[in-house]
Amino acid sequence: MAKPIVAIVGRPNVGKSTLFNKIIGERRSIVEDTPGVTRDRIYADAEWNNRKFILIDTGGIEPKSEDTILKQMRMQAEIAVATADVIIFLCDVRAGLLADDKDIAVMLKKSGKPIILCVNKIDRIGEVPYEYYEFFELGFEREPIALSSLHGTGSGDLLDAIIEECDFPEEDDEDDSVINVAVIGKPNAGKSSIINRMCGEERMIVSDIAGTTRDAVDTLVENVYGKYNFIDTAGIRRKAKVEDRIEKFSVLRANMAVERADVCLLMIDGKDGITEQDEKIAGIAHEAGKACIIVVNKWDAVEKDNSTTKEVTAKIRTALAYMPYAPIIFVSAMTGQRVMNVYSMINDVHNAACHRVSTGMLNDVLNDAMTRVQPPSDRGKRLKIYYMTQTGVCPPTFVIFCNSEELFHFSYRRYIENCLRDTFGFEGTPIKLVIRQKGDKEGD
Ligand code: GDP
Ligand code: GDP
Repeated sequence: MAKPIVAIVGRPNVGKSTLFNKIIGERRSIVEDTPGVTRDRIYADAEWNNRKFILIDTGGIEPKSEDTILKQMRMQAEIAVATADVIIFLCDVRAGLLADDKDIAVMLKKSGKPIILCVNKIDRIGEVPYEYYEFFELGFEREPIALSSLHGTGSGDLLDAIIEECDFPEEDDEDDSVINVAVIGKPNAGKSSIINRMCGEERMIVSDIAGTTRDAVDTLVENVYGKYNFIDTAGIRRKAKVEDRIEKFSVLRANMAVERADVCLLMIDGKDGITEQDEKIAGIAHEAGKACIIVVNKWDAVEKDNSTTKEVTAKIRTALAYMPYAPIIFVSAMTGQRVMNVYSMINDVHNAACHRVSTGMLNDVLNDAMTRVQPPSDRGKRLKIYYMTQTGVCPPTFVIFCNSEELFHFSYRRYIENCLRDTFGFEGTPIKLVIRQKGDKEGD
């Protein structure tokens, strides 16, 4: 379940980490009077009225020493905008409304995300200083919340506002439990045969909607493994035999089926081995970011010895080097050998694709990874990774904030990806790493 992310943004010294500590209820970050001080922890799980969210103190993101305050603030605001669902914009009543506050307000407003403006350091209960009213000038929809992070006054109002603005995930509804499975592969690989085998007697509905815009035949089935909707790209072929012999049509159909799928079964004709056309079709699933299982069919018709499976596997891994994550299974749709095992694989890869890792765990893995293999450096400049958060599923998508995209070489990216896979699995699903460079560029 996805927890909303709430980020605290504001000029140095307005009280971000004090507020952060107040909300999470523990003194996790170091508070000091010097602006820009390093803090040990910048995100934490928080809870209010049984609603859980993740709180980020963007002030804790270590700026580069040569960065100006403006650059730092811009970077922090960008991080908040990029990752948060709701932004707390903190100002300081003692300092009054400053030009920097106005700059941040402009940046935040552009994001279109819900912003909760808070005016901090209003320590005397019932006595709102005149300066508080200056902050109305920033023009946010919501009335500024008067806070004293130090004493905790106003934090209840703030938490209520956070809960109001966050979209909390709904309970799973019926439809979500159906896994859409696209069976893709070149003509004659055995796509229809395996669907017939897998659905067998349990087949519930066959909706033949060929010729409609969907251009594929759906088969819904419910069995002990779960509920599945098979999207058969071959179904159409029986109606347009000639056309489908032409490669581009099968590729086009695969494209459309993959679009609607949660999991793809890439059917390979075991008699032919892996071909160029298979590579193209597999590429469609990979590029669409879909979970994928490589199904080598017609295994009954392949002459085998002890090493055949190994050899075929090696050939597939070489040809489909971009999808090392996809598990391979050898089946026979004709005899039924291992066909039912495909179901548990579908469930596994689907779960992997939907898996969410907490920001805390991710950063533990990231820190471990950086300790084991130092990030690369170039001409005295070392790659510095600030932090990492998962922003999406299907495929699992991670945003990594660092000081230099250029220094984040492909090999180090692959290393981080492998560390994630070693720890969390993610078998069968591609994962996406988005590298964000922060604090370097003015004006982006
Ligand atoms: P940050 O740089 O925005 O994270 O600010 P800090 O949380 O480090 O706070 C900066 C200074 O302001 C510290 O000395 C805090 O004790 C002080 N401070 C924070 N919140 C309040 C408040 O509500 N009232 C008062 N009087 N001081 C506060
Ligand atoms: P599609 O075009 O991918 O849907 O392939 P079909 O399911 O129509 O199968 C194409 C041909 O391969 C048919 O003649 C099937 O009988 C045959 N076939 C499918 N699966 C197997 C299998 O596991 N073993 C063998 N020997 N033949 C198979």
